[in-house]
Amino acid sequence: MNQVVRLVTRDGAAPGAAPAAASTAAPAAAARRPTHVVDVHWGRRHVRVGGGGPIVVQSMTNTDTADVDATVAQVEELALAGSELVRITVNTLEAARAVAPIRERLDARGVDVPLIGDFHFNGHKLLVQVPECAVALSKYRINPGNVGTGARRDDNFAQLIELACRHGKAVRIGVNWGSLDQALLAALMDENSRLAEPREAGAVLREALVRSAVDGAAQAVALGLPADRICLSAKVSGVQDLIAVYRELARRCEFPLHLGLTEAGMGSKGIVSSAAALAVLLQEGIGDTIRVSLTPQPGASRAQEVVVAQEILQSLGLRAFAPMVAACPGCGRTTSTVFQELADKIQTYLRAQMPAWRARYPGVESMKVAVMGCVVNGPGESRHADIGISLPGTGESPVAPVYIDGRHAVTLKGETIAEQFQCLVDDYVNTRYATPGAAAADTAGPEAR
Ligand code: SF4
Repeated sequence: MNQVVRLVTRDGAAPGAAPAAASTAAPAAAARRPTHVVDVHWGRRHVRVGGGGPIVVQSMTNTDTADVDATVAQVEELALAGSELVRITVNTLEAARAVAPIRERLDARGVDVPLIGDFHFNGHKLLVQVPECAVALSKYRINPGNVGTGARRDDNFAQLIELACRHGKAVRIGVNWGSLDQALLAALMDENSRLAEPREAGAVLREALVRSAVDGAAQAVALGLPADRICLSAKVSGVQDLIAVYRELARRCEFPLHLGLTEAGMGSKGIVSSAAALAVLLQEGIGDTIRVSLTPQPGASRAQEVVVAQEILQSLGLRAFAPMVAACPGCGRTTSTVFQELADKIQTYLRAQMPAWRARYPGVESMKVAVMGCVVNGPGESRHADIGISLPGTGESPVAPVYIDGRHAVTLKGETIAEQFQCLVDDYVNTRYATPGAAAADTAGPEAR
């Protein structure tokens, strides 16, 4: 007897049947969770964190803060790359004494990015010993696990909060699993062991992280720090752990959350892990400011962490910072590296122009550029971009059609295709985005303006 086999697709429809209307709709990030708005400011520069505003990109220097020249240079490099807040280590008296001169030098150079002081163990003393440091910083990062033990812990923590209140500064209660409050962890472990069905140790550790952050914030509020001056973080180095911890933090409080994977690592490992963790949370509407903690290659620019943070946000469609170049990966149809070199050159060129373009060409950060390797996908992808070029693949006629706003505009040929294309990009930017009298943009992304 013949068996009749009915083919069905995964959603139950017969092959060829029209799919359900919503099946190909692009997902959008969930609405951002409601939070207080924390205003981190210096002079006329206000960076607002939370409240559904643009997700703020921040970074941290790795210079010795006592080395004023090196720290000023790196803060400026990070700010120029687009870091909207920059954190510096304040770990010694020399470092604390260097903070005001760093601030003055930055101001003199027109770099008004707010500085955050990263304190551990002795912050309460340093801020008292060097009051200029307390004033020059816009925000203090306090780790409740690193302010002392026992009664002294509470006193030191209270002193830091009192200083933040006195100087009108914002605070991040920043918990880290590498320096978790051991007394709290031990108490939760004991409590857990008395349960009829104890939870696994990892769950207790995550609970301790969340509890340390939330309890620290409650303590700060009880000490008089307004709730709208507090951000929270609870960093771990595992992707799944970070997602679990932040979902819980988001559920339990209304403070803006600083997202970041701690000790993310070097190179592609650090980038991929950070992107994986942050993307899940950002897509769920969790996270108000991000830092990507990359270990730079020796001698590499610290600004890479800023670029990666921006690209995570831009890839998710949450903010735009610089035009993105879509480039094909290349394959056997391209036997030269021309298109790779052009894609790299154009991306580098576009990013380098942004400090000047941001003010002169509002909206240019959302521009899409395509650099494609051959005729298979080249024209199609280029038509989807604002401006795109399809380079000749192996055996193809040595010409490169350029598409502008979806239409074939010109065909380039010869040895200077790259230079000609760059000129076309410049012309396009000038024609489409120039606004007479455009003022310098503030720190807000386009969605906030
Ligand atoms: S566009 Fe052409 S060169 Fe690029 S990956 Fe596709 S087939 Fe290969």
